Amino acid sequence: MNLHMEQKIQIMIVEDNPMNLKLVSELLEMDGFHILKCHDAESALVSLKTTNPEMILMDVALPGMDGLELTKKLKANNETKNIKIIALTAFAMKTDKEKVFDAGCNGYITKPIDTRKFSEQIRELLNVNNG
Ligand code: MN
Repeated sequence: MNLHMEQKIQIMIVEDNPMNLKLVSELLEMDGFHILKCHDAESALVSLKTTNPEMILMDVALPGMDGLELTKKLKANNETKNIKIIALTAFAMKTDKEKVFDAGCNGYITKPIDTRKFSEQIRELLNVNNG
């Protein structure tokens, strides 16, 4: 995947924490991705009516509908089921990893974000088969 192609890739971030949203967006923008920012599940659903991102970075703890509920909803819909969904989670509980995959997420990135590894994590996740 060369830089020219990456510039066209859209990634949506659903994250209610403004500092995390800013950090993740800035890291991805530095790598040339086009970013769609959403503060909650509702705004993500509205945005997805007119956008088709390659990947969604999904905070799990969101006000209102949480990230796992939103993931289930998107994976149950033919229009959105092929979007790669990556959970952003601190894995506070041992069972959290299981819940993330049960909900239909294709992968995860643990919080706090490791800024040195983030770029490589995203590259690898973009190549993961959506199966
Ligand atoms: Mn949150």
